[in-house]
Amino acid sequence: MMQLTIWGGAGEHGRSSYLLQYKNEAVLLDCGGKKEGGGQYPLISPEVLPQLKAVFLSHAHEDHSMALPLLYKHGYEGEVWTSRVTAQQLPGYFQAWGRYARSQAAELPYGEEHIAAIRYAYLEERSSAGEWSNVFPGLRMKWGRSGHLPGAVWLALDWHGKLVYFSGDYTAESALLAADEPQLGMMGEGSEGTDAARCLIAATRCIADLAIIDAAYGANSDSQAVRLAELEQATEVVLRAQGSVLYPVPTSGRGQELLLWASERFPEAQLIVERALMEPLRQLTALPEWLHVGALARIEKLLASDRLTIVASEEERLRALAGKGSSLIFTNDGMMQSEVARWYYQQLASVSRHAVLLTGHLASGSYGEMALRGSDSGVPDFPLPVQHICYKVHQGLPDVRQMLERVPSRAVVLAHAVKPRTDELLEVLKEEGYKGVYSLSPGDLFFV
Ligand SMILES: [Zn+2]
Ligand SMILES: [Zn+2]
Repeated sequence: MMQLTIWGGAGEHGRSSYLLQYKNEAVLLDCGGKKEGGGQYPLISPEVLPQLKAVFLSHAHEDHSMALPLLYKHGYEGEVWTSRVTAQQLPGYFQAWGRYARSQAAELPYGEEHIAAIRYAYLEERSSAGEWSNVFPGLRMKWGRSGHLPGAVWLALDWHGKLVYFSGDYTAESALLAADEPQLGMMGEGSEGTDAARCLIAATRCIADLAIIDAAYGANSDSQAVRLAELEQATEVVLRAQGSVLYPVPTSGRGQELLLWASERFPEAQLIVERALMEPLRQLTALPEWLHVGALARIEKLLASDRLTIVASEEERLRALAGKGSSLIFTNDGMMQSEVARWYYQQLASVSRHAVLLTGHLASGSYGEMALRGSDSGVPDFPLPVQHICYKVHQGLPDVRQMLERVPSRAVVLAHAVKPRTDELLEVLKEEGYKGVYSLSPGDLFFV
């Protein structure tokens, strides 16, 4: 019997970390931090770490990766299996995480030496997307692109005759990033007595014993098209009133997609963009294997656009704001915790025709969340209109349904949303007749 322990990430947003144990072996999926209270970390049991044979990392985002050094601090000496692009992105995320902890006067629970101790092994060097390969005797895996971030993957493990599917953060609705259909499908070479062998013999679809899937948007049923229509309308209203729109976005991720979208939907508007957001955009041009067909040409067109003003200093920002009139401003901090994001807010705050559009997750107590609440309730410190329209980088109800069809599973753990939201989704799925779906919490054990 295999045991799943939720070290974090189910019933909450953040510190994704799922421990699988079989007899005296263990495998870990993700090891992230939670951006609340200066940083919360997974419920790591150091006594399990001697059993740990491999760690898999779905992508570079902080909520999946920032606790990896803790494993090495507690004695793990093995590898972290991830994509090469993810490993390249991680140093930037570790720096940002350190800055975040300092800004909250919180102490990091690990040192630079533990970050440096991480040993990476690259998925794409072991196998191509959609192909099974051996990790160590008894464990086979395959991966596919998850459409969430360059380098982001879903994973399937075939371990001791159990099939485990982990979606990572998944979306099939990215404007730029390609996603591979999450199918266990047929296995290349089945091992005796496992589902793999049975699948091969019976020529039927494989059924996962356990699936841990991104359900970050709970029961929300909006498609990306609906969200983009809302964003377009909200932006248009501000531009028509000669105002500027501030889009606080993460350094890498939806920011580049929204920037491209804005440049195409509003061909007249000036674009003021923090330099930190441009580097990931340029990097995308070097990663065509992670992109949709045609995306590269669109990015190159944007990079060559003369409507683009790239800024990195206060002087450049002031000049850009003064010179351009109505602008679409992209700053790199989705929750507005950074000084620069707040600076933009303060600069725009004196003129009520300007607005802020928040497009992603807001941790409670973040500046973005306070600005949103302040705008709703007329708090004098927060005079700007703020709207929260999420650009989808995760799965909601229709996406979860589709994934359950494509990856039939005996047991499904819904992940990446707070408990009430997960429970709500669970109720909807149960009413629709789905069985074996679970809403769990950190610390829970689950037997497969
Ligand atoms: Zn993510
Ligand atoms: Zn995540």
